[in-house]
Amino acid sequence: MNPFAQLDHKFVWHPFTQMRDWLKREPVVIASGRSAMLRDARGREYLDANSSIWTNLHGHGHPKINKAINRQLEKIAHSSALGFANEPASVLAEKLVQIANCKLQITNAKETPPQSHSRFAIRNPQLSKVFFSDDGSTAMEVALKLAYEFARRTRGNKSRPKFLSLARAYHGDTIGAVSAGHIDLFHKAYAGLLFQTDQVMSPYCYRCPFNHAKPERADARKYRKCNWECVGLVEQKFAVQKRKGNSFAAFVFEPLIQGSAGMIPQPDGWLRQVTSIARHHGALLIADEVMTGFGRTGVPAASDQQPASSLFASQHEGVQPDFLCLAKGLTGGYLPMAATLTTQKVFDAFLGEYKEFKTFFHGHSFTGNQLGAAAALASLQILQTKKSCRQREQLQKALHTELQTLWSLPNVGDIRQVGLVTGIELVKDWRTRQQFDLRERAGVRICEAMARQGVLTRPVGNVIVLMPPYCTTAAQAKKMVSALHESVAEVFRAR
Ligand code: PMP
Repeated sequence: MNPFAQLDHKFVWHPFTQMRDWLKREPVVIASGRSAMLRDARGREYLDANSSIWTNLHGHGHPKINKAINRQLEKIAHSSALGFANEPASVLAEKLVQIANCKLQITNAKETPPQSHSRFAIRNPQLSKVFFSDDGSTAMEVALKLAYEFARRTRGNKSRPKFLSLARAYHGDTIGAVSAGHIDLFHKAYAGLLFQTDQVMSPYCYRCPFNHAKPERADARKYRKCNWECVGLVEQKFAVQKRKGNSFAAFVFEPLIQGSAGMIPQPDGWLRQVTSIARHHGALLIADEVMTGFGRTGVPAASDQQPASSLFASQHEGVQPDFLCLAKGLTGGYLPMAATLTTQKVFDAFLGEYKEFKTFFHGHSFTGNQLGAAAALASLQILQTKKSCRQREQLQKALHTELQTLWSLPNVGDIRQVGLVTGIELVKDWRTRQQFDLRERAGVRICEAMARQGVLTRPVGNVIVLMPPYCTTAAQAKKMVSALHESVAEVFRAR
């Protein structure tokens, strides 16, 4: 066994991993990476088909990001944001505010729910302040704590304000983020540690009880037959909570597509409608763009004229949240860093005389880290070039074309693509939509077979995720999808 694999087996405890299984076989030891490829300690190459758990944007070893980190390293790696400012974090905060407030576009406005929800006009706030932290979970913690305290300070009543989030939500693994999550498998065991949040149905068209359409060989959003009952349920939730005299402090959501929930995409117009309902009921909006941020949900049509615009999923629906939570791709996926953007209004609620102790008493040792900020600035620069926009557009199209080949497989039930995020739901038979029991490890077995073909990804339950770095070529996208095709055929034929 490779010596580092041996050390790993002896000392390392891996996340979201049954270590008994892990210890049964030699792990792949990643030694280096270049563009969309990873190379292991034995010199074998793999395509990084999930961007190293949804973090990497422009590929590994990008010369511009490497150079930016090295340049910063020559000056200083880290100094504390408790008491001091620094150059890259200040510049990055300005840049994030700029891109977060770009002209909002409504690119998906083809369809809107027929009900009365459109009567609520959305008043989008400006985002003007940036609170840095370390990862997606801490970005969410910051938003939750700020929203909670903002609601307490600005509402007359003394009751504890609650949050509403989506069914199957996942927002990270710290206690606040887990409290806002609703995946039983991950969260139930810790119920005793959590604060209570409310949940509402999310639009999972493929398995929606209100969708009366028979299964077709297409994305379920396209052929669904329903009356937008999911939007009606959101309105109901807000109305009921208001009647209790303690309106929700905030509505927490992943815009356009829920990731760890199973790559569940929202039909066009859903986000716009539910966020306007939330605003109408006085709730703040917390957008978790940890996965969806930085162009992951695709390039809107107007990108040639405005290459800097719409890097966030919420913007595709013309929605501006009060809290924009960013991590993963913030540094191009090179270093751990996160940011929670918020409004002047929220910021002002924490201003006061020192002796009033209105300070936001929260922070992390590596807040505003210089190396992370330098990487993030380089990544943003790359992201805003015409070349990067073109690359993303081409990859989105290439993935779409290749994914169509999977419909011929009876074990493929739904293929969901939102920009550069794709989820392929495996089922026992597409005609019945019958699910595999998680214990059958269908998704895991497919990913193991794909790894043998040189393509690395991780499933979310029975959903295979393909979310490659933006530099992935059309030929590489083809290889990813054909590895999936062959793996599905191989694994299920062998059953
Ligand atoms: N929010 C979302 C939408 C995520 O996908 C994740 C991680 N997969 C998180 C939050 C938590 O991020 P992290 O793992 O960096 O704490």
